[in-house]
Amino acid sequence: MSVSTSELARLTVRLPAIASNYRLCRRLAGPAAVAGVVKAEAYGLGMVPVARTLSEAGCDTFFVARIDEGIALRPAVPEARIFVLDGVRAETVAALLAHRLTPVLNSLDEIALWQRAAKEGRTSFDAAVHVDTGMSRLGLPGAELSRLAAEANTRLAHLRLVLVMSHLACADDPDARMNGRQLARFREALAMLPPAPASFASTGGILLGKAYAFDLVRPGIGLYGGNPHAGAKNPFAVAAALTGRILQLRRVDKGESVGYGATFVAARDTALATVALGYADGIMRAIGNRGEGAIAGHRVPVAGRVSMDLTTLDVTDLPGVRVGQEVEFFGDTVALEEIASAAGTANYEILTGIGSRVPRHYVEAA
Ligand SMILES: *Cc1c(COP(=O)(O)O)cnc(C)c1O
Repeated sequence: MSVSTSELARLTVRLPAIASNYRLCRRLAGPAAVAGVVKAEAYGLGMVPVARTLSEAGCDTFFVARIDEGIALRPAVPEARIFVLDGVRAETVAALLAHRLTPVLNSLDEIALWQRAAKEGRTSFDAAVHVDTGMSRLGLPGAELSRLAAEANTRLAHLRLVLVMSHLACADDPDARMNGRQLARFREALAMLPPAPASFASTGGILLGKAYAFDLVRPGIGLYGGNPHAGAKNPFAVAAALTGRILQLRRVDKGESVGYGATFVAARDTALATVALGYADGIMRAIGNRGEGAIAGHRVPVAGRVSMDLTTLDVTDLPGVRVGQEVEFFGDTVALEEIASAAGTANYEILTGIGSRVPRHYVEAA
């Protein structure tokens, strides 16, 4: 794949790796079906190309957060089912219907609103219901679930319950006792409601085992190569790499400082490489003097603060570095989880924080 010489930074997205991560989810969760969670531009990688790739790999169900994401996704996957996690509001009923989006109903009020729209149209609508089993974020709390169960005949009239779902709070930690507690609550909820397909596991939940899979799993981060269980070996293939080119090389004498705040002071005569990526591109400022880049597979430390457009590396111990060479901040050498850890954050925030000015390059073939 050619890169225009004017282009100094890029996010390389490996579509075949995303397809292979999708197939891995299928093997791990089967016979459950596997949806694709493509909210937030598929975690920054680009929603439409990612969704097309997943669709070609057999994915026919997608989750987005915002209704606008669903509207943008619809033409890319005309036949697929698209769930909107935000649910429905009076102002969004018409757009949900126009774009054939299925709201994930998060409260009795939302259920009533969707039902009223179905009645007014003298028809019935597909609906997903989210029950809260411990996230305390979205979804019906226990008391609302009890009322829904007791009055299911009336409250779910005119609705086809196509999914009952819940979400794990501690799926990233296989030892968390919260996982088993939520699983028990979810099973109780399913037993209370009319029979419907069930969905519980995100990527971390898939790795907890088949008991968590139910009928449909909802991976996001694993499709994009993120490791859902920190500390364990990552079963997913690298699907994204962030690289920037070296703009300038220089030497500074022992005792000279580097960057804003002069926080790096050379302890020896030092060779520096200045790279065309900064915090506006998603290189978190928190990795200043902490993180690493990699040049041709060799790790080099960040020297000084990350600035808006530039990051400086200490390349004293790596001979032969040239202007124009690519530096990887995550990818094959530096794991996404390493830059996240250096920044004191999660792999999710690194991916979704990559700046919009970084061009995305899509690798189509393995
Ligand atoms: C974001 C999200 C997912 C995907 O989670 P990952 O940890 O990225 O696999 C699944 N379900 C819900 C409700 C979500 O909000």
